[in-house]
Amino acid sequence: MNTIKTIVFGVCMLCMFQLSSQEIRVSIKIILDVNGNRPDEILTNEKFDSAFLWINERMVEYNRGIEFVPFEYVEIGGPSGALSTAISNQFNGTSSDHRIDAGLITELEDAAQMFPSAFQWRSDMINVYYSRTQVQNGICSFAFNTDHDEGILIDHRRADEPEVLLHEIGHFFNLFHTADASCGTTLLDDSSWDLNTIAVQNFGVNYNQLSAANQRLVDDTFNNIMSQIRNQGESRVVLTECQLDKWHQTLVNFTSRTDVTSGVAFYVDDNDPDPCNILPGGSPCGCNGKPDVPFEDAHCAFNQLDGVTKDVIVFKPGMYDADQNSNVGIVLDKPALLTATRQGSAVIKP
Ligand SMILES: [Zn+2]
Repeated sequence: MNTIKTIVFGVCMLCMFQLSSQEIRVSIKIILDVNGNRPDEILTNEKFDSAFLWINERMVEYNRGIEFVPFEYVEIGGPSGALSTAISNQFNGTSSDHRIDAGLITELEDAAQMFPSAFQWRSDMINVYYSRTQVQNGICSFAFNTDHDEGILIDHRRADEPEVLLHEIGHFFNLFHTADASCGTTLLDDSSWDLNTIAVQNFGVNYNQLSAANQRLVDDTFNNIMSQIRNQGESRVVLTECQLDKWHQTLVNFTSRTDVTSGVAFYVDDNDPDPCNILPGGSPCGCNGKPDVPFEDAHCAFNQLDGVTKDVIVFKPGMYDADQNSNVGIVLDKPALLTATRQGSAVIKP
């Protein structure tokens, strides 16, 4: 009896887990030195486990139904053969050849795609490499393209700073640094600036003279995941709604469910003047449900569910008709996570 209970409980927990989020797969690779040793700061995988816990706490706060899954921790390089030794020589070391920059990440990506098994390169995960390098930082080649050939390389001394991993993943999803202000919800900043410097440089007055709204802009920049300011880390947790929309837009632009995620996010926004909805004769479900052309009616998103993968339906604030045409309501017969952005409540009217 106890055994049966345990099994039933286990199955149910699995069901809940499967419905919890849109999973994004990550493969963590540790580049060994030529003697087969891991870099000093990452002798075990403990810091990676902690990093994913921290990152997924942020995902819960962001409310977009995303969860990062550390699918594997693997080691590459070492003394086991000529190719392994070459990998260690090229990507593990502290000489000037091992400076993390655009040149080194491009070399790594090119070599990994030429020798995918030696680099344990995965076409259906985000490939993250940790190594001993000359400088303590990380890099992701940028911007995203449809070849999905972006790798991430991070110095081992940054393994206990999960915000660095999330920052590089942000680049993977096409986010720029805050200083580029591409969303309009972050300000100009620079790596050495504090709150006051950001205020002065952007508004010409000190932080304490700013309106609450502008202080919020300064805070959201200073504490932003995509800022290059090395503040205390603890508070570096912000991604603005615009950044999250952009991230999800990139994610849903992935053309296949077999890519880094198995699921799909469908956006619903009744305030968005979608041309596909308002054109004469246009279908209410003519939009594709991506963040830039969201569905207007809730039922359009539900119609897209395939009943198998871990899809997410994201509602922008608003009042939604369950089905304004035939008034049959919504039939919930397929698994999906429903969530609303942090901007306000979404109400589905019968
Ligand atoms: Zn960056």
